[in-house]
Amino acid sequence: FKSKLPNLATSIFTEMSLLANQYDAINLSQGFPEFDTPEFLKDSISNEVRSGNNQYSPSNGMPDLLKQIEALIYRRYDTTLNGLESISVTSGATEALFVAIQTIVNNGDEVIVFDPAYDSYEPAVSLAGGKCIHIPLVSPEYKINWNDVENAITASTKAIIINTPHNPTGTLLSENDLIVLSELAHKHNFYVISDEVYEFITFDGQQHESALKYPELFKRTFVISSFGKTFHCTGWKLGYCIAPKPLADEFRKIHQYVTFSSFTPAQLAVANMLETHPEHINELGAFYQKKRNLLLNALSHSRFKTFISKGTYFILLDYSDISDLSDKDFCHWLTKEVGVAAIPLSPFYEGDYDEKIIRLCFAKNDETLLKAASILCKL
Ligand code: PMP
Ligand code: GLN
Repeated sequence: FKSKLPNLATSIFTEMSLLANQYDAINLSQGFPEFDTPEFLKDSISNEVRSGNNQYSPSNGMPDLLKQIEALIYRRYDTTLNGLESISVTSGATEALFVAIQTIVNNGDEVIVFDPAYDSYEPAVSLAGGKCIHIPLVSPEYKINWNDVENAITASTKAIIINTPHNPTGTLLSENDLIVLSELAHKHNFYVISDEVYEFITFDGQQHESALKYPELFKRTFVISSFGKTFHCTGWKLGYCIAPKPLADEFRKIHQYVTFSSFTPAQLAVANMLETHPEHINELGAFYQKKRNLLLNALSHSRFKTFISKGTYFILLDYSDISDLSDKDFCHWLTKEVGVAAIPLSPFYEGDYDEKIIRLCFAKNDETLLKAASILCKL
């Protein structure tokens, strides 16, 4: 038996949440809301279970949910999908990412990812026989340098994975970024996987630039999202992939043999929620912006340097005025000795990383954020 992923250990999110529990620290590490999913969704899912909707859904998703996703895309991005064939419901964005990568990546293909990169991209590419080519985002603003991208493109480049709003940096891609990407994708004939799981969490009046808004780009793109972030229900593992029909057809073939279908009651409950409570999504950005501001304000007298978060529920902090420890050691110390758990940035990078930056999740109750900040201000 030979490991297919010999260089991988347990994910940093699991590691830090375990440590937080073990030391009873305030857990601002793994990204999940501390507050509950809306009452309507809880009632709706239990009604679906009690009504006997407990068997397999169609492999591509419950028709009610597909219709609501189509309507949502029209409302948010003014984009008409021309039927439901392009939408596939998945068991979280993680499954959608895995299946999209399996759909297009063959042995020897290269896939460009931007560091810091979400941890599930690389193993999925490796298991498909491909290789990730890592391009660092340019700090402190964590922007893409498109010249670096063009220089990294080879005859083997099969895809580029983008993520906006971006975990862990909280940055957004601009209209210009998507236009340049679209031109490059056509010129060099590669696909795009656009991870948009935080699509509804943007701040300060900034718009999320979905690949769905760019018809030329969308011709080559898998757009992936997750209801876990949108409806505070990460444990329901419900997401979706939208792709042009030929790509969606191939995606669906593979999805059939990975999970076949996703949890039926959750699909029906989310469809009900989308239909009857559109205000939830409309208010999500403002809801998280308040939390971001509360945390930033409370940390303004600390010795951490804070980065601007324009979206997601994460914020980066530079601790170089506080400690010389490596980011992993600092996060262990912070959890065990100080009582606040955070995520180091190095696991999001290929190779050595020696900057002194950590990620905090602010999807927490205000009291929790204030308590954590008051502890961090003492350092
Ligand atoms: N992509 C990014 C950037 C994420 O942050 C997450 C969730 N942590 C996912 C994908 C996976 O989403 P899901 O939980 O729906 O599988
Ligand atoms: N996406 C979450 C984060 O970034 C973690 C999800 C997971 O634990 N796999 O913290």
